[in-house]
Amino acid sequence: MSKPVVAIVGRPNVGKSTLFNRIAGGLVAIVENKPGVTRDRLYRDAEWLGRKFALIDTGGIEFKAEGTPIASQMRKQAEIAVEEADVVILVVDAQLAPTPDDDLIARTLRRSGKPVLLAANKVEDFEKAEGQLYDFLALGLGEAIPISAVHGMNMGDLLDMVVSNLPENAGEDYDPDVIRISVIGRPNVGKSSLVNNMLGRERVIVSNIPGTTRDAIDTPFEYEGKHYILIDTAGMRRKGRIEELTEQYSVVRSLHAVDRSDVILMLLDATEGVTEQDKKIAGYAHDAGKAIVIVVNKWDLVEKDDKTINKFEKTIREELGFLQYAPTMFISAKTGQRVHKILELVDFVTEQNSTRVTTATLNTLVREWLHLNPPPTDKGRRLKVLYLTQASVKPPTFVFFVNDPELMHFSYKRYLENQMRKHFGFEGTPIRIIIRQKD
Ligand code: GDP
Ligand code: GDP
Repeated sequence: MSKPVVAIVGRPNVGKSTLFNRIAGGLVAIVENKPGVTRDRLYRDAEWLGRKFALIDTGGIEFKAEGTPIASQMRKQAEIAVEEADVVILVVDAQLAPTPDDDLIARTLRRSGKPVLLAANKVEDFEKAEGQLYDFLALGLGEAIPISAVHGMNMGDLLDMVVSNLPENAGEDYDPDVIRISVIGRPNVGKSSLVNNMLGRERVIVSNIPGTTRDAIDTPFEYEGKHYILIDTAGMRRKGRIEELTEQYSVVRSLHAVDRSDVILMLLDATEGVTEQDKKIAGYAHDAGKAIVIVVNKWDLVEKDDKTINKFEKTIREELGFLQYAPTMFISAKTGQRVHKILELVDFVTEQNSTRVTTATLNTLVREWLHLNPPPTDKGRRLKVLYLTQASVKPPTFVFFVNDPELMHFSYKRYLENQMRKHFGFEGTPIRIIIRQKD
C-alpha cells in the first residue's frame, strides 16, 4: 500500500537524528527474526493518531564525493526530501539565529511547493520561546514550532501538524486487482535492463495514460488480461533529476518502493553474489511481509557446469537465511533468457501471499501437529493450543491462542511454521505467527 513519506532536513547538529529517533523510536513494530535491517536512520516506519507514514532522515544520506561542500550536500539532501516526501520537516537550532545554510535549504524547500513544517529544536524554556522564534519567520516558512527532541517536548504538536498535512488520499490510489512489482537491487545489477526487457516483450501492453499512478517511474502494463504496475527504482537516475545516486539514497528509494509493492523482484548480480545492501533490502521486504522472488541476473556471464546453479542456490540460502521461502530464478536481462517466466512466478507468489485458510482446516491440522510432536514441558507445564485462526493475508498471519504464551518456545514455533509451510506452501511469502493468551 502506498504509504506517505515524511522527510527531516536541516544543517548538521540541529538535532535531526535525535528527532528521527524520537518519532520512529518507540513505534517500530517488533518483528521476530529481524535481520537487523530497519534500525538505521535512513528510513523507518512511524505512526501518529493511527496514520502510518515512513520517516526519512536526510542527514543519514551521505554524499561520498570528497570535497563536496556542506552547502551543496545540504541542497542535495533537501532535493531528495522534496523528491521523496509528502511532508518535509526543516529542523533549525532555536538557540542560534538562522544561518545562511538554513536560508539556502528553506529556499529549496519553498520552491518545491510541498508542505514544509519548520521545527525550532533545542528549546529549553517554552514560555520564552515565542519571542525567540521571530527571527525564523525570515525563512519564509511560516511560524516555527518550538520543540525539544532530546526531551520529547511538543512532539504532539509537531506530529499533529505532520499528520494534518499528509495527503488525504494516500493509499486510495491502490487498486487491489493490480499487482505492483518492484525491481530492487544495487546500482548496476541490471534493474533498468530488466524493466526494459519485460516491458518490451510481445503481448505486454504498456498503458500510457498519464496520471494513472502517482509516480512517473511507475509503469502500468497489461499481460494476458492481467494488470500490473512495474516500479523501477533506477528510473530516477535516468530522468537525471538527481544524478548522484549514492548507495544510501538508492537504499531509501528501494525501501520506499518495497512499501508500495505487492511483489519484490530482488535482483542479484551473478558475478558478485549477495552484498550487505542486498541483505538489508531483502530483510526490509521480509519484515514488510511482501512476496519475494530472488532473481539472479547476468547469468550469461557465468561459466556454467551442471553444478553451478546448485552452488549459487546454496550461497543465496546461506547469505539470505531468512528468505528460505523465496523462489529463485536465473536470468539474463541482456539476452532475455528466462525473462518471460518472471510474470508467471509473480502471479504465483502473489497468490501465496494472499492465501486464506479456513479456521476449521487450521484447527484440524494443528491438533495433528501437536499430536505428532507434542510441545516439551516446562517446569511441569505443557503448552496447549486452544484455537488457531488466520487474522489476515499479505502476508498470511496466524494467531495461536494458547494457555500460556511463555510456554511457546522459539523452536516449537519454528516447528509449527514448518508444518504450515509443508501443508500450504506459502512459497515466496513470509508468514507471521502471533501467540496470544486465551483467557
Ligand atoms: P543532526 O546532526 O542534525 O542529526 O543532530 P543530532 O540529532 O545528532 O544532534 C546534535 C546535538 O544536539 C546532539 O548533541 C544532541 O544531543 C543535541 N540535541 C538534539 N536535540 C536537542 C534538544 O532538544 N535540546 C538540546 N539542548 N540539545 C539537543
Ligand atoms: P541498474 O543500475 O540496476 O539499472 O543496471 P543497468 O540495467 O543499467 O545495467 C548495468 C550494466 O549491466 C549495463 O551495462 C547493462 O548492459 C549490464 N547488464 C544488465 N543486465 C545484464 C545481463 O543480464 N547480462 C550482462 N552481460 N550484462 C547486463
